[in-house]
Amino acid sequence: MTGRIRCPQCGREYIGTAADGRSNRYRHYVCWSRARYGSKAGCDLHRFNADTPEAAINHALLAFYTIGHDLIHRAIAELQEEHRKTATPVPNRWRWSAASLNKPTL
Ligand SMILES: [Zn+2]
Repeated sequence: MTGRIRCPQCGREYIGTAADGRSNRYRHYVCWSRARYGSKAGCDLHRFNADTPEAAINHALLAFYTIGHDLIHRAIAELQEEHRKTATPVPNRWRWSAASLNKPTL
């Protein structure tokens, strides 16, 4: 999710970072300003744990692609219909035909 979340205080993107504890590695997101300049010179918003929002997003994506396939099919059909209505027809002289390959050219 790096770059996908904007800091509400300074407007910079959040970046993924990690820190090693005694037995675990802790992943979190922190505002770019705070990561670069610290909480005094940069932004003082706190970092947040990466596991909870990433699990929620993965769950939502999985649900969308397994349950929401009708939405995907409908969106594709609508785009195809829109393209069909607005696309410029290909002139007949540009259409390929096997017979044209056998014609001698001048
Ligand atoms: Zn910030």
